[in-house]
Amino acid sequence: MTPENNDPPLSEPPLLDFGSDALFLDFDGTLVELCDRPDAVEVSDRLIDMLHALSDRLGGRLALVSGRAIEVLDGFGMGRLAAAGSHGSEWRLAGGSRKFLPRPEGLDIARKHFTLFADTAAGLLFEDKPLGAALHYRLAPEQRDAAHTLAEDLAQAHRLHLQRGHDMVELRVPGVDKGTAIGELMKLAPFNGHRPVFLGDDVTDEDGFRAVETAGGTGILVGSERATQASHVLGGVAAVNEWLARSLQAGASEGAEHSNGGMP
Ligand SMILES: [Mg+2]
Repeated sequence: MTPENNDPPLSEPPLLDFGSDALFLDFDGTLVELCDRPDAVEVSDRLIDMLHALSDRLGGRLALVSGRAIEVLDGFGMGRLAAAGSHGSEWRLAGGSRKFLPRPEGLDIARKHFTLFADTAAGLLFEDKPLGAALHYRLAPEQRDAAHTLAEDLAQAHRLHLQRGHDMVELRVPGVDKGTAIGELMKLAPFNGHRPVFLGDDVTDEDGFRAVETAGGTGILVGSERATQASHVLGGVAAVNEWLARSLQAGASEGAEHSNGGMP
């Protein structure tokens, strides 16, 4: 939906339904603010505590769905949560072991080219991932076109998937995305049989929105409204944190009412 085609503006989503929903959360730009350097992102104890409380309340039906590697997400203190990392190339249930697709050989060649290119201008950052290779140009916006041309050439030569994100371009395992990642987790307990809700901010999250909306769930765009497959919107990271906290609060008082109601 876009303001140009006269669709009504997206509305704020209803609070989570802890009885029926399965919650899928993008990380950067959704739960935490974007940073100039991906390793400089700030994750508060309050956020980590809230995610664990939500996961408990949902019976484990909460998963992070990120372009980051699962091991990087774990480094932020989220190792007990279910997760799909590297844009769907790896996944894990809460408390389970990590499953992942094989690393294509072309990624090693892409790593070499990206590293050499990143050395040619100040502000370019190469990010090595177990199942991907990314170039960040947030601090060198004049390098955008050159970065994209290099990535396009490498993607074609080595049959890698080209992913464009916020001020970055990434090469990764082909054939998977955030939508397939959510689909795979939805086949497994405790997610199966529930209604998927996915929050994300980036163009890479559109695959996830499409997957959950097709499955009868809800896609929630984070940030300013734009052309999207999502049906609801939250204005930014602060609004997401507030919506999650309010859901948790409402769910807790509902749970208390039920348990009181069951008292003789
Ligand atoms: Mg994001």
